[in-house]
Amino acid sequence: MGNSIWTGARPERDEFSHRHIGPSDAEAATMLAAVGAASLDALVDQTVPAAIRQKEPLGFGPGMTEMEVLARLRAVASRNKVLTSLIGQGYHGTILPPVIQRNILENPAWYTAYTPYQPEISQGRLEALLNYQTLVCDLTGLDVANASLLDEATAAAEAMGLAARVAKSKAQSFFVDSACHPQTITLLRTHAEPLGWALVVGDPATDLDPAAVFGAIFQYPGTTGEIRDFRPQIEALHAAGAIAAMAADPLALTLLASPGDLGADIAIGSMQRFGVPMGYGGPHAAYMAVRDAYKRSMPGRLVGVSIDSRGRPATRLALQTREQHIRREKATSNICTAQVLLAVMASMYAVYHGAEGLAAIARRVNRLATVLAAGLKSLGFAPLSTGFFDTVTVDAGDRAGSIIAAAAAAGVNLRRVDGSRIGISLDETTTPEIVEQVWAAFGGKPDAEALSPADSIPEALARTSAYLTHPGFNTHHSETEMLRYMRRLSDRDLALDRAMIPLGSCTMKLNATVEMMPVTWPEFGQLHPFAPEDQAQGYREMFDDLSARLCAISGYDAVSLQPNSGAQGEYAGLLAIRNYHLSRSDAGRDICLIPASAHGTNPASAQLAGMRVVVVGCDDSGNVDIDDLKAKVAQHGPQLAAIMITYPSTHGVFEEAVTEICDIVHQAGGQVYLDGANLNAQVGLARPGKFGADVSHFNLHKTFCIPHGGGGPGMGPIGVKAHLAAFLPGDPREAGSHAVSAAPFGSASILPISWAYMLLMGDGGLKKATEVAILSANYIAARLEDHYPVLYRGAEGRVAHECIVDLRPLKDKTGVTVDDVAKRLIDYGFHAPTMSFPVPGTLMIEPTESEPLVEIDRFCDAMIAIRQEIRAIEEGRWPVEQSPLRHAPHTVDDAADEQWNRPYSRREGCFPSGSSTDKYWPPVNRIDNSYGDRNLVCSCPPLSEYAEAAE
Ligand SMILES: *Cc1c(COP(=O)(O)O)cnc(C)c1O
Repeated sequence: MGNSIWTGARPERDEFSHRHIGPSDAEAATMLAAVGAASLDALVDQTVPAAIRQKEPLGFGPGMTEMEVLARLRAVASRNKVLTSLIGQGYHGTILPPVIQRNILENPAWYTAYTPYQPEISQGRLEALLNYQTLVCDLTGLDVANASLLDEATAAAEAMGLAARVAKSKAQSFFVDSACHPQTITLLRTHAEPLGWALVVGDPATDLDPAAVFGAIFQYPGTTGEIRDFRPQIEALHAAGAIAAMAADPLALTLLASPGDLGADIAIGSMQRFGVPMGYGGPHAAYMAVRDAYKRSMPGRLVGVSIDSRGRPATRLALQTREQHIRREKATSNICTAQVLLAVMASMYAVYHGAEGLAAIARRVNRLATVLAAGLKSLGFAPLSTGFFDTVTVDAGDRAGSIIAAAAAAGVNLRRVDGSRIGISLDETTTPEIVEQVWAAFGGKPDAEALSPADSIPEALARTSAYLTHPGFNTHHSETEMLRYMRRLSDRDLALDRAMIPLGSCTMKLNATVEMMPVTWPEFGQLHPFAPEDQAQGYREMFDDLSARLCAISGYDAVSLQPNSGAQGEYAGLLAIRNYHLSRSDAGRDICLIPASAHGTNPASAQLAGMRVVVVGCDDSGNVDIDDLKAKVAQHGPQLAAIMITYPSTHGVFEEAVTEICDIVHQAGGQVYLDGANLNAQVGLARPGKFGADVSHFNLHKTFCIPHGGGGPGMGPIGVKAHLAAFLPGDPREAGSHAVSAAPFGSASILPISWAYMLLMGDGGLKKATEVAILSANYIAARLEDHYPVLYRGAEGRVAHECIVDLRPLKDKTGVTVDDVAKRLIDYGFHAPTMSFPVPGTLMIEPTESEPLVEIDRFCDAMIAIRQEIRAIEEGRWPVEQSPLRHAPHTVDDAADEQWNRPYSRREGCFPSGSSTDKYWPPVNRIDNSYGDRNLVCSCPPLSEYAEAAE
């Protein structure tokens, strides 16, 4: 573009799409020749059914340059006003240590990694997550913690679900402390209603009837700051066979008796104030910890210690083949993408400060809060509670509005709890000057030195148990050590900054640096999610434009940016369908049809939305079996709520019958949920909202460049047709709003990534990205089809943006498993493709448009070389147990093994691609999963064990 008098001819590379898309035009021509297509257009014509093809352009115009986009982002950012936030309510100012900001949050070695399903190449982030679990266990005084949930409010909903599963009580009600954060109460309502549970919201001291509930949740300290002792309530709940959960502030827990000490069964909360910016709502990690007895019912991913084939300790995800909690219809939770990067940051914050440092921060915050309280009292505003940690609430009567306005004018946001009460939450960043500004807003200037602040931690609830005694939290306190520790861990991992990660369905594409830059700008990072709207005008502008673009891309009429993962989007979309039916007095529609090939989160979300799952079969080509669909629709007619389909299908094919499927369901009064995880095959080519679907989620961490962060964060906004718009999730502060996230715009601070991507690519770039993604998948299919069967193709023999290769025949012949091939790929320097989804015994490969041809070829060469190795087993040259496949991955210990006695050489084992330059060495050999599940250890083992194992 841009041949003007000013610029002359711009170099092609000036256009960002040429940076984002891996293959050059010349390489694309080579690839087209290999797949036997005359042009990209011709290939797309053969791949995407004509009936659903989009004719018009997206209407975004040409892409912007990186410098133009940065300028645009700067302009938008400058419309956000960063005030000092003392709003609290679950979100606090915090200091992200610069060494962690630059070396984790801004470091692609951490943020471009995938969920650690392949533990041998994930030892770094798994160790960081084990630290996180240890941190949570220590602070909460409970036995087992998972490696992050989405936010505090959804964690509370997960706790309610867990309580329902494990309680002896058969009651159908759940008690909620009225001092829980308002957004937590709203989300509990959202989740309880479809499952038929009643919520009792009240004062634990007076309103709790233990015999009437299966569980209860208490906030500690309460949302307006008060610290209460829940021991009597917890004992009474236990006597009645009910479960006690506590939502606890982790910084307060450094000074307060832990939930475990008080007898609680479950603790949940937000780790945001451990160094993670508020980000106008997110992302940050929520935590959950439970008593040992409930660990097998806990949602989320659990990191555990096991051993590798050399008997060394090694970490991996415990208690699951893939996701123990997403067991389709039997699911207990739908959480998939979590908040790994943020959990890693929080754990590093604890490593950086250590137990003493954290306690010192907490004591200082508490000290300032007591000074603030004493000053307010001297001004005639006595705090409503004498026991508090960091939050003071006062009744300002009819002066509340003017005080809050005066504070804002001085640059400080206070919380308007209700008509007359004002909440003030201090944090690590609070200075004496800020306290004085608050006093000034209340109309006075007390002499701080003359005040006598009273101790505000109730003696009976002072913490006595130790925490963070593990050496890992007590050694890396100099910046040099901290830097090296983080570097050491990241070096153990294989992320996108080293190699292609060809995971089907996960769309591991480029996360461009320029897209990442705004994430750490204070104008995006330092806003409280409940800051007044006039301070977030920049965010508003971006949300509106991003939503409009998502509508244009998807063909829907309205978008909600609230769900903070794909699975949360599914949940929000199904709730919209449910409430749409109910609004039309069409009760009794609770059947959700789901094809057998669906992602596990689909049935899990349906079941959480109170729907009954009925599975629809697939035919031999992987398509929805239309006859079976018709039969199921006929059978359930008036009870049919929805169908959930994935498009292109999880088999990687554009089904020709998609419009027919939508018609069949609509005619029976059902709605169509189209799982948008595979939108990367459609942008600019086809629009779900135009070919029959009613609602979809968009995984912004797949198609729209938010990095996976090692298993989160993500964003899963949903788009809906106009008739569902009224049922989109509302403001989480409003009871009954059907909100699905704690914050109105979910993880707002990562939305600039997706927005920047759209601005950079423009109309043509986005469409071309889709076309090249399809070309690359077809190229891989063409290169591999002589070596492995490639399953599932469309009507004209094309795959969509991913392809599935079948290893089952080879397994039958040789015993080589999918695992063997996946681990052997590590020796060649690759992350494995998606294993055994949607079909057991297969690999699903998705290259995305971002991989250059040389990398795609390197991967295909590796796959072909592995096929030759399997042939050596077929021909009896290697027994499978003694083959490099079974012994994969190989480590430095193999290269240096003085007792080497295998039928292949150390060089063949360690350097199968021939080259030893730039070799990635996994830090451990193959990990024994079942050993770890038999001997479950989910927090940092004492260092002595490592020493013993190393001997
Ligand atoms: C990734 C994926 C999901 C789940 O999305 P999350 O963001 O991980 O919750 C759902 N369906 C399909 C097909 C997916 O690939």
